[in-house]
Amino acid sequence: MGIATINPATGETLKTFEPLTAAEIEAALERSQQAFEQYRHTPIAQRSQWLQATAEILEQKQEQFGQLMTLEMGKPLKGAIAEVKKCAGVCRYYAEHAAEFLADVPAKTDASYSFVRYQPLGAILAVMPWNFPFWQVFRFAAPALMAGNVGLLKHASNVPQCALAIAEIIQSSGFPEGVFQTLLVGSERVADLIADERVKAATLTGSEPAGASLAAAAGKQIKKTVLELGGSDPFIVLESADLEAAVATATAARMLNVNGQSCIAAKRFVVVDAIAEKFEKHLVEKFEALVVGDPMLSDTDLGPLATPNMLKTLDQQVQECVKSGARVLTGGQPLLERPGNFYPPTILTDIPEHSPAQQEEFFGPVALLFRVSDINAAIQLANATPFGLGASAWTKDERERERLIEELEAGAVFINGMVKSDPRLPFGGIKRSGYGRELGTQGIHEFVNVKTVWVK
Ligand code: NAP
Repeated sequence: MGIATINPATGETLKTFEPLTAAEIEAALERSQQAFEQYRHTPIAQRSQWLQATAEILEQKQEQFGQLMTLEMGKPLKGAIAEVKKCAGVCRYYAEHAAEFLADVPAKTDASYSFVRYQPLGAILAVMPWNFPFWQVFRFAAPALMAGNVGLLKHASNVPQCALAIAEIIQSSGFPEGVFQTLLVGSERVADLIADERVKAATLTGSEPAGASLAAAAGKQIKKTVLELGGSDPFIVLESADLEAAVATATAARMLNVNGQSCIAAKRFVVVDAIAEKFEKHLVEKFEALVVGDPMLSDTDLGPLATPNMLKTLDQQVQECVKSGARVLTGGQPLLERPGNFYPPTILTDIPEHSPAQQEEFFGPVALLFRVSDINAAIQLANATPFGLGASAWTKDERERERLIEELEAGAVFINGMVKSDPRLPFGGIKRSGYGRELGTQGIHEFVNVKTVWVK
């Protein structure tokens, strides 16, 4: 796939880009190295000021950046603007708290004094996905830059203008040249970038195959990676749950990122028999009320999927699921009567055990419904997936709540709420959803040398 802006709502190619040449990549790596030598000594208060300026630019131009995202990957504009504001928030969070998170940590030992010091590593390569074109990048960049690292962004090939805009924002906030650069390159360049000695570590948010490939390349070089990969998050509703709140949230949780293209969108709805019929009926009503259309319009709930390929894959998954015996409650066919990559809100039920739906991530507006007899069956089914990103569970019972927190295999469990990311809390997965954490205090400690100091 070339590097290009293709409007997912119309299929029109708006702009194409030549990938960087080998000489341009070399120059960028050199700039990065030079920048790091200076930047690592910049006082943290200065970094914080620059990052506050980044937040201001994001807030001032939220409409403009939102439109760019909508144009390139199709999320409705209101969601895109909200994403820009969230990026400003994560910049402010780390601008305000990094000094505290990175302060020396004293330890009492046999030394006269000993402590832990956090030091930057150097250039960190960030391989990022298109689904949150700004948020994924800023949640990496804000802590990484505050820690004194420099960033190299290899963004998804379908959001090049977002990628360039982000580097421009950071540069114009005052950060020195070379501290954060966008490299317009295809994924075939990633292994070489990791092998370069000037690149010290890498983070990838994306699919399992991409994560495995990056981790293998980094493993060969003994370089650290953080992987934020796919998910098939369960949304469990038990008998004591506030059903109305659960259904209202279920719709938002499935359609998260306004067309369901989110790693932490709820994908499997696991509902106990006693309330399953009611839940199903209400969910169908909510899904059918959603407006699918032009993502630039304010009354649109669901935009197109990002690429024709995403549409094709989702359609195939649904057809496979139906072939295996599942029943379609609503939706179920791509909206081919219009240009663009549109897929309607869809609900599948009566999904047979061992259907591919249990093992795969459905990256679009498709809810998979499963009925279970009780909490034991719910937990068992929720955990019967290769993924372990998030889980949302609904109950008013204290003992049930404790069991869900303890037994669900996931990087995050949200009780009576939908899974979401928040700068104040770590974010990441287990199993095939990846490893390492972003955000919170943990996020800033992923790309640092944790140096032990012992002095007598
Ligand atoms: P993707 O195809 O894996 O692409 C993500 C990034 O990886 C892009 O920059 C892509 O570049 C690059 N890439 C692809 N193949 C690669 C390879 N073999 N080696 C190195 N880099 C490679 O994923 P996507 O379809 O864009 O994004 C959707 C996936 O991301 C879903 O599975 C979703 O769950 C996951 N995701 C996870 C999180 C999380 O925090 N856990 C958040 C958001 C999304 P090109 O575009 O040039 O191919």
